[in-house]
Amino acid sequence: MSDSMNVWAVIVAAGRGHRVGADTRAPKQYREVGGMTIIARAMRPFLDHPDISGVVVVIHADDEELFEAATRELSGLVPVRIVHGGKTRQESSRIGLESIADKGADFVLIHDAARPFIDRATVDRVIDALRDGAEAVLPAVAVSDTLKRIDDHQTVIDTVSRDGLFAAQTPQGFDFNTVLDAHRKAVVASEARFTDDCAVMEWAGHAVKLSRGSRTNTKITTLEDLHMAEDMLNARRLPDIRTGNGYDVHRLVEGDGVWLCGIKIDHDKRLDGHSDADVALHALTDALLATCGAGDIGDHFPPSDPQWKGASSSIFLRKAVDIVAEHGGTVLNADVSLIAEAPKIGPHRQAMRESLARIIGITVDRCSVKATTNEKLGFVGRDEGIAAIATASVYYGDLDGK
Ligand code: MG
Repeated sequence: MSDSMNVWAVIVAAGRGHRVGADTRAPKQYREVGGMTIIARAMRPFLDHPDISGVVVVIHADDEELFEAATRELSGLVPVRIVHGGKTRQESSRIGLESIADKGADFVLIHDAARPFIDRATVDRVIDALRDGAEAVLPAVAVSDTLKRIDDHQTVIDTVSRDGLFAAQTPQGFDFNTVLDAHRKAVVASEARFTDDCAVMEWAGHAVKLSRGSRTNTKITTLEDLHMAEDMLNARRLPDIRTGNGYDVHRLVEGDGVWLCGIKIDHDKRLDGHSDADVALHALTDALLATCGAGDIGDHFPPSDPQWKGASSSIFLRKAVDIVAEHGGTVLNADVSLIAEAPKIGPHRQAMRESLARIIGITVDRCSVKATTNEKLGFVGRDEGIAAIATASVYYGDLDGK
């Protein structure tokens, strides 16, 4: 089969979702999980899928404003059409299919808006099975719980073998004309009992092929499901830890000592610059500013500004720490590499680390100072200047890890 098959997606979202809780003002698909509505999450993998030509969303007639608000932030590659659903899921599904009957669709994927964790790989497996010639494709996962049948008194009367039992998911994929035909036949036969589209196909006598679903592609039905979904998203969320780097060079001239990492070291030269020319603090200031996109040291302390003449560079570093804090950041560590032929850095490393810790306001074990010569190569090797490279990591978020 060619790759240029015309594939459409129908998102069924007309349900009222009363099981989520009596306090619910809107149906569950319009609730947010992890800062995004369930329906928007459910639509997303179809909107930017390169194989999908268009998406139809079947909503309840009362929900137009909710839908508009819930999906305002969504953008995708394909057009989205809205149609109003019917009284049952089966009817809504058929209405969605009828609405694109003139689109020349080869395949259609029908997905429940209450499954927000649908992943691209599951969608791809369904499309692949259709390309391989299946008329109907059901993503499903093997049932892993032991199953019990109970009576009216909540008493177990039987243990049901789970051999060969699978839990059905969506999107279910179909040959378009075949599934539309099956739905139309069900209307004619007054068969209105089907809870998914594969069941309609089974009833109409078509083979349904299984494809591998995903354990995380769960359906949100109850308030408990909603809370579990929140927890799952929170657990998945990566901590916002950012790294920035900085580099600086200053020229060495005749003098009586160099400022490095906020301390003055005796030397027969000094670093030339508008401020105290502490290359290490300048590089580290840039590294910190980089973690929140706050420009560089020159943006905040222009060399043309006379007030910074001879200033201690600790002011610059302290300001960068404040800017980071204003952005919600906490400095995790700072690492400075000095590149110099002289003076010897080794004897001063500990004092430099303590100085950095003091200025930044973190513990000494989070501050590192390293030094190397440049093997007599280049401007550093000729003792014309000192270079510094700095790296800082900053955590952006609440400190309780939430
Ligand atoms: Mg500088």
